[in-house]
Amino acid sequence: MTWSATVLTLFPEMFPGPLGVSLVGKALAIAAWSLEVRDIRDHGLGKHRTVDDTPAGGGPGMVMRADVAAAAIDAVDRRDRALIYLSPRGAPLTQARVKALAEGPGAVLLCGRFEGLDERVIEARAVEEVSLGDFVLAGGEIAAMALIEAAVRLIPGVLGDAASPAEESFSAGLLEYPQFTRPQMFEGRSVPDVLTNGNHKEIARWRQAESERLTRLRRPDLWTLYEKGKA
Ligand code: SAH
Repeated sequence: MTWSATVLTLFPEMFPGPLGVSLVGKALAIAAWSLEVRDIRDHGLGKHRTVDDTPAGGGPGMVMRADVAAAAIDAVDRRDRALIYLSPRGAPLTQARVKALAEGPGAVLLCGRFEGLDERVIEARAVEEVSLGDFVLAGGEIAAMALIEAAVRLIPGVLGDAASPAEESFSAGLLEYPQFTRPQMFEGRSVPDVLTNGNHKEIARWRQAESERLTRLRRPDLWTLYEKGKA
């Protein structure tokens, strides 16, 4: 079974969009993973295929109806896939969650719009809420794309070099060390000597030290977790 994503959205024309290019897009073209996009409006009510209504209790904007969202969810052959609502109130997406999703059969992703989704459908369908970060998007589509792209690039064979995911940022709980390439000298700055002397042990030691230095400096939250993990 190939890894598969089903996206429930009011804007199916946004897909595959960025998921159709580069390595992730090539992997899609050769069916190394699959993408199904479904229009929530197909489950809209009445002549106008209404999907939203005014918020109970008042306030600005519109809320996606629970019955419409539930019908869209129930029409999907979910199998054992994770059911996720992209939401700024969700658990912030981490590389650990991405890795677990990539190792599973795939995900069904519900994209909100307007002021969000009626709370009852989240409860009734035991939907997992996942956030892209502490900021507010206009809809869940870009968050769904980000999640899919992050997961698909971990599927064996999708990235050119299978070794690279193991070393990059977050995989070991640390940020990645700085990277350099040619030219050897750029505007008076040279590539660090240690990287050009061919001593692989020393290179590994330098990279580990840089990863630790950057993480301590930029992400004290990750650094604390890393230190705890070692203890
Ligand atoms: N009023 C809501 C925001 C609604 S934004 C609130 O304050 O929580 C409209 C839709 O965009 C949401 O239903 C959700 O699907 C999506 N969205 C917005 N920000 C997001 C984020 N940080 N991560 C994931 N999805 C997000």
